[in-house]
Amino acid sequence: KVRVRFAPSPTGPLHIGGVRTALYNYLFARQTGGDMILRIEDTDSQRFVPGAEDYINEALAWLGIKIDEGVREGGSFGPYKQSERRDIYREHTRRLLDAGKAYIAFDTPAELEAARQATPNFQYDASTRMRMRNSLTIPADEVERMIADGTPYVVRFKIEPGRDVTVDDLLRGKVTINSSVLDDKVLYKSADDLPTYHLANIVDDHLMEVTHVIRGEEWLPSAPLHVLLYEAFGWQDTAPQFVHLPLLLKPDGKGKLSKRDGDRLGFPVFPLQWTDPSTGAISTGYRESGYLPEAVVNFLALLGWNPGDDREIMTMEELIESFAFDHCSRSGARFDFEKGKWFNHKYLQMIPDERLAEMFKPVREAHGVNPADFTDEYIARAVGMVKSRVNFVSELWDHAGFFFKAPESYDEKAVRKRWSEQMPDIMRELTGVLRGLSSWRSADAEPVVLEWIASKGYHLGNVMNAFRLTVVGECKGPHMFDITELLGPDATIARIERGID
Ligand code: GLU
Repeated sequence: KVRVRFAPSPTGPLHIGGVRTALYNYLFARQTGGDMILRIEDTDSQRFVPGAEDYINEALAWLGIKIDEGVREGGSFGPYKQSERRDIYREHTRRLLDAGKAYIAFDTPAELEAARQATPNFQYDASTRMRMRNSLTIPADEVERMIADGTPYVVRFKIEPGRDVTVDDLLRGKVTINSSVLDDKVLYKSADDLPTYHLANIVDDHLMEVTHVIRGEEWLPSAPLHVLLYEAFGWQDTAPQFVHLPLLLKPDGKGKLSKRDGDRLGFPVFPLQWTDPSTGAISTGYRESGYLPEAVVNFLALLGWNPGDDREIMTMEELIESFAFDHCSRSGARFDFEKGKWFNHKYLQMIPDERLAEMFKPVREAHGVNPADFTDEYIARAVGMVKSRVNFVSELWDHAGFFFKAPESYDEKAVRKRWSEQMPDIMRELTGVLRGLSSWRSADAEPVVLEWIASKGYHLGNVMNAFRLTVVGECKGPHMFDITELLGPDATIARIERGID
């Protein structure tokens, strides 16, 4: 059975690249009938940020990425938070020590710094470890005494030099490096009684029976070390399949998309708004910027993957059905944020007008519209008429605000172009024509008004634009007689009369 995990570290808000990683894991799990695990990798106590874990849960829930096993969901492979698995890591560290595959090192930060100063490109490895202060160079009884005395130490992985290590990646094929380039990574620190990412990650993936490790390309350099760790534990036969996803690139394709690019480009790089607990700085999120979760999911899914045909609008169900690693790109995916707006536009069009009217409510109220003044049907018809022009609900006001408030000013340029000395008289005449209409419906009113204009020999464009100016305030918007049909005779005529003065 397929088992995948999303394993974020709660060091800040989940960024959009992380969300995409979670999404691909989820699509693959759903497609294969597998399990999706959410594991909180909080072993780096220095970088722990309060609120980040809740943020991760809330973001995934908003996007519709459902977790099968996790801190909140429970499951039979828990605990799912690494800081609650200390006994497990202690025991596994002990196993490597007993097997001679790891050793204890006492070097202080100052000593390490001195070694770095003394040797160019210093690396703690087979070529240097015998010069350092560790259990390979200090007699065993002394090591025991130092530990008993509480001397801080770390456990380092003893990497055999000169070996080819091969990582088998589903997207990249086999990648081989020589073990001599690797350093003796720290696996465990006595100071906080916690393992490092590498040890905890391998032990947990093994114990949680993870079959596929799907993660960002930034972890590819760690993969050889992980392969060696699986071997050191004797788990190589059940090691998971690696899939390293391409990076998300800046919109211009130059370099990796960073968390700071959001502010720079005026585009969210986080799913939800985030307030930095130490500085109070606020970064906007997709949700708060008016994006629909379905649009964000669709947009992200296509950053680095395609369905193999020209489909672009795809629901979560369709994505689950079509997702395949062989259509994932190996090169980075450019983060085209204009395309994100386009997706939101498309998804907004699919929302029924009644629902859209509901979503538009806070915007209307923020503009001082009394909720009791308009019926639900009126609002739904108003938004239905303009939704094709917007990407976000908040933009509906720019296009439909006049349905709720008569114009307070008139577009000056249009006035100069369309208004003339005779216009007040013509508009007065128009109110007469409108009063005489037997039906106020768009299709009935239009021919009557047009015929009146023609019979008088008036300039069609000028009269219709002047009409529009008095009712809307500017020369744009939906079809004029659709507008007047919805506004009704009283409001329409009152607006023309106000416009005349
Ligand atoms: N905790 C790592 C992260 O923050 C997990 C990497 C992995 O998936 O192995 O991305």
